[in-house]
Amino acid sequence: LNRYAVLSQQLSDSDLRVPLGTEQRGQPLPAPQWVDTSDSAAQELGWPSDWWQQWPEALEVFTGNAVWPGMRPMSTVYSGHQFGVWAGQLGDGRALLLGEVDTPAGPREVQLKGAGMTPYSRRGDGRAVLRSSIREFLCSEAMHALGIPTSRALCLTASPHPVYRETPETAAVVTRVAPSFIRFGHFEHFAHSGQPGHHQALAALVDFVVNHHLPQFADLPRAADQPAERAVALLQHAALTTADLMAQWQGVGFCHGVMNTDNMSILGLTIDYGPYGFLDGFDPDHICNHSDHSGRYRWRQQPDVGFWNVGALAQALAALVPDAAEKGSDGQERILEALKAYEARYAEQMTARWRAKLGLQGAQQPQDVGLIQDWLALMARQRADFSITFRRLGAWRADLPAEAPENAPVRDLFVDRAAFDAWADRYGQRLSLEGAPGDADAQAARRARMDAVNPWMVLRNHLAESAIQAAQAGDFSEVRRLHRALTQPFTEQPGNARDADFPPDWANAIEVSCSS
Ligand code: AMP
Ligand code: MG
Ligand code: MG
Repeated sequence: LNRYAVLSQQLSDSDLRVPLGTEQRGQPLPAPQWVDTSDSAAQELGWPSDWWQQWPEALEVFTGNAVWPGMRPMSTVYSGHQFGVWAGQLGDGRALLLGEVDTPAGPREVQLKGAGMTPYSRRGDGRAVLRSSIREFLCSEAMHALGIPTSRALCLTASPHPVYRETPETAAVVTRVAPSFIRFGHFEHFAHSGQPGHHQALAALVDFVVNHHLPQFADLPRAADQPAERAVALLQHAALTTADLMAQWQGVGFCHGVMNTDNMSILGLTIDYGPYGFLDGFDPDHICNHSDHSGRYRWRQQPDVGFWNVGALAQALAALVPDAAEKGSDGQERILEALKAYEARYAEQMTARWRAKLGLQGAQQPQDVGLIQDWLALMARQRADFSITFRRLGAWRADLPAEAPENAPVRDLFVDRAAFDAWADRYGQRLSLEGAPGDADAQAARRARMDAVNPWMVLRNHLAESAIQAAQAGDFSEVRRLHRALTQPFTEQPGNARDADFPPDWANAIEVSCSS
C-alpha cells in the first residue's frame, strides 16, 4: 500500500496535473549482503524478528533490486532552504518510498535510501556509502532507544558496488521507517513553485497529513474546502513538536548538523542522519558538520534554527490562509500566534528536561533556572564531558564533604575544584528541599531518576567509526554489537564499559561532512 503514490496519481490525473513525485524502481546493486537488522523496528511494523530470513527475496527487495507484488515505489518532490538560503527544487535524490504498513499505532512508511538515481538526483549518483549508512542505521535506533522521536532503521544491506566520494567507497541501502517522511520542504515546494494548481496540491498535502497522521484535527474543515483551519492547526502542531524535539536533542547533547528545511519532519521526528554528532567535552559552540563553515547549525543554535525553520513552514502554509500577508489581519494574527507557541513550549520543555537531568522534582523553585544555567556554564568552562558528567552527578552525595572519595568521580571531572564545590554546595541545598541529605532511600530514588534520563552511553563518533572501519574490511560484527548496546543506553553495561568511556585522542581527528 502506498497512499502517497495513490494521492500523487489522483493529483496528476485530475485537472491539476500536479504529481507529488515519480513512480519508479530502484537501480539494482550487485551481490547484496545483510549488514544488520533491527528487531525493535520490525516489531513496530508488527513483523517477526526473523522476517528477513522468512520472506523470499527480502534481501533483494530491501536493496532495491526487486519489488513485492503491489509495491509502487516512488521518489517524492520537495524544495527547501539550505543553510538559510532558498535552494528551490530538491526531492528524494536517493530515497524510494516503497509503501506503507498499517499498524495499531497508525501507518508506517517504509523507505529505501541509496537505491539509485531518481528525477531529483540533480548531480548526485543516487547512492549512499556504507560509512554513512552505518551511521544512519545506528543513530536511528540509538535515538529511538533514548526516547527521542525519530525515523527508524529496519535493516541495512551492503554491496561491493563502488561509489566515489573523496575516495572510492562501496554502496549500501538503509531501510527507514517512519509514520511519514513528509518534510517542511514538501509544503514549501508547492507554496513557492508559482505553478498553476500548486496551491490545491498544498491543500491536498495538508489534508493527507491530517487524515493519516493527526486524527485530532480530523473534525476541522478539509483544507480543500476551507484551507485556513487545518493549515493553522498543522503549523501549530509542527511548532510544538519541533520545540519538543529541540529540547530533547539539547538534553542528550545531540547535534543534527544539517537542519535545512528539507530535513525537518512535519511530525517533529529526527530525520536524515548525516554529519550528526553527540557532544564529548561540553562546548556549546560545537559544530559537528565539517561542511558548516559559518557554524549555522552549532549545538547552541539548534533551538533558534528550529524556530527559523518553523517560520519558513509558516510562510509556506500562509498561502492557504486568507490575508496572511496583510499586517494586523485575522489570518496573519493566527499564523503569528501558532509560531509564538514555539518559544514558550521550548523554554518550558527545556527547563523541565534540565531539571530532570539534575534530579530535581516537585514544584519548580525560584533558584532552579539559575542553578541549571550556572551548571551548564561551569561544564562549558571546564569542557566537562557532557554525557559522563551528567551521569556521574547522579551519584553525588550531598551529605558528605565535597572531598569525600565517594564524590571524586564527578568532582574530579573539573579542573577548577573550587568552582565545582561552590556550585555543588548550592545543589546540595536545593536537594535538601526534597528530603534529608543523608536519607539513603531518597538518594537511591534520585539516582534512579537521573539514570533514567542521563544516558550511560551515546553514539559518539569514534564508536561509529570503529564499527565502520571493521565493516569496510568485511566484518559486520562490531556494527551488530554496538547496535545491541545502543538499545539499552540508560543501563550500565559492564561488558561494554569502553562504550561509555571518554573518547580516545584520535576521536578529535574524525571529520564528518555532508559527503555521504
Ligand atoms: P541532504 O543534505 O543529505 O539532506 O541532501 C540534500 C538533497 O540532495 C536531497 O534532495 C537529497 O536527496 C540529495 N542528495 C544527497 N546526496 C545525494 C546523492 N548521492 N545522490 C542523489 N541525490 C542526493
Ligand atoms: Mg536530506
Ligand atoms: Mg543526507
